[in-house]
Amino acid sequence: MTGELRDKKISLFKAVLSHNIGERDNMGKVIFLDIDGVLNSNFWNADHQREISDGKYIDTEKVRLLSDLVKKSEASLILHSGWRFWFDADVQPTRPEAAYLTSLLNNEGMTVAGMTPDLTTEEIRRTKKFSKVKADEILKWLENHPETDSWVVLDDLELHNEIIAKYQVMTNPEQGLTEADVEKALGILC
Ligand SMILES: [Mg+2]
Repeated sequence: MTGELRDKKISLFKAVLSHNIGERDNMGKVIFLDIDGVLNSNFWNADHQREISDGKYIDTEKVRLLSDLVKKSEASLILHSGWRFWFDADVQPTRPEAAYLTSLLNNEGMTVAGMTPDLTTEEIRRTKKFSKVKADEILKWLENHPETDSWVVLDDLELHNEIIAKYQVMTNPEQGLTEADVEKALGILC
């Protein structure tokens, strides 16, 4: 082997090694993030009821609470919300709703690192019973990322799975994410 070829092989090896280490660092802790009922709520004050599932409303106060959790835990955000269907496979927004969410997260120094796979069926999409497959989608993601050290699920709905229930902070859709939820999530993650 020539010296040049050997050097190339060594630098390639180092690049692969650093990439893997970097990914492991990034994926050590993971927050599976739902949006509706977490970063928004059915009521933003007593007078104004909002339709929260139309992709038009995110509560910036809830985004700030999420950023506290992300900063304290150094966890990565994995989107498991239906909002992820408004992103492409590289987590780039394909719809204004996704661009809006991305800009609010970016404002607080956060980015979405990935998304759970889509295991929905035609029946689930028609009836919008996404909570029926969310647990399977999260567990599939974890199966594909064995480097994950700890994880927590933020969702306002019961996800019909005993394992998930142990790692879930169930937010109140009337309130969205609270400081108490953040503390509970930190307890599960750290
Ligand atoms: Mg929800």
